[in-house]
Amino acid sequence: MTNHTKCLIIGTGPAGFTAAIYASRAMLNPIVIEGPQPGGQLITTTEVENFPGYIDGVQGPKLMEDLRAQALRFGADIRSGIVSKVDFSGAVKKVTLAAGDEFTADSVIICTGAAARYLGLPDEQKYLGLGVSACATCDGFFYRGRVVAVVGGGDTACEEALYLSNLAKKVYLIVRKDYLRASKVMQQRVREKENIEILFSTVTMGLFGEEVLEGAHVATHSGTANENFYDIAIDGFFLAIGHQPNTEVFLGSVDLDEAGFIKVAAPSTATSAPGVFAAGDVADPHYQQAISAAGMGCRAALDAERYLMEQA
Ligand code: NDP
Repeated sequence: MTNHTKCLIIGTGPAGFTAAIYASRAMLNPIVIEGPQPGGQLITTTEVENFPGYIDGVQGPKLMEDLRAQALRFGADIRSGIVSKVDFSGAVKKVTLAAGDEFTADSVIICTGAAARYLGLPDEQKYLGLGVSACATCDGFFYRGRVVAVVGGGDTACEEALYLSNLAKKVYLIVRKDYLRASKVMQQRVREKENIEILFSTVTMGLFGEEVLEGAHVATHSGTANENFYDIAIDGFFLAIGHQPNTEVFLGSVDLDEAGFIKVAAPSTATSAPGVFAAGDVADPHYQQAISAAGMGCRAALDAERYLMEQA
């Protein structure tokens, strides 16, 4: 079993597996490193209805199983492990796993994804998939005619609140400060929506519900003399407080933006390290969709192939 490849792919979400399918079919014999959450964020999703090709929708884990099987069919060599060290300084890239295995590669595609940020309340995990979600585009459809809350005051929160306002009966936007951080245009759109109620200076203290989510305990002006606790009845609780890209191990090896996402030279997927490419949520703070990650994975494999041809 060789530990050298023309193309090493790190991560097995939609971007990683799509890159693996393309790289395998291009005879690059990719080795794919499957990390701590094989299949990525979709493994924790229930039904996915917006991935093209699945007329009746598909369960997130099933979608990832299909992508994995498709990558294996073309010969992708999938290995498990957590990348603990990388050296992208030379023509031959070095990647070391926590267990000690070492890989060398002529090109690398980073697809390590991002993790939605949660508030850290124990109740969030309890109701995950039972009312708690970090993706309105993925799960909003299940809340048609219901009452939901979105947490956050940035562009994502406003966008998610607007998206949900077209489906849900009512949307609470829970904002911890007394103003929105979002762009002016997004703020205006949110304020113009009659069924969005913004709860400023409000924090979520907890969630409740018999079996599924039924409401949230919130507090206004928490920690001040004007502190006020009350409950809101909601069926859905959407986190939109940002994403944390999984880039810690690449710090110093490729350029990151101020939020930690890998910078790519769009429209290419090239990073600041020659021969190293990035695709999916790890390099895309904006779209964060399975299909856009898959598309970027395809582009990264094509970019890697072109790079290798130029080096030959
Ligand atoms: P942001 O970092 O811009 O906003 C995060 C929001 O979550 C802030 O309002 C922040 O509050 C709040 N927040 C963070 N932690 C907590 C917490 N523990 N409790 C309560 N609230 C919390 O992230 P976004 O995902 O909104 O945006 C990321 C980037 O993507 C931005 O540059 C944005 O402009 C861009 N984007 C652009 C879009 C567009 O143009 N259509 C759409 C989506 C994203 P506080 O303000 O108090 O810090």
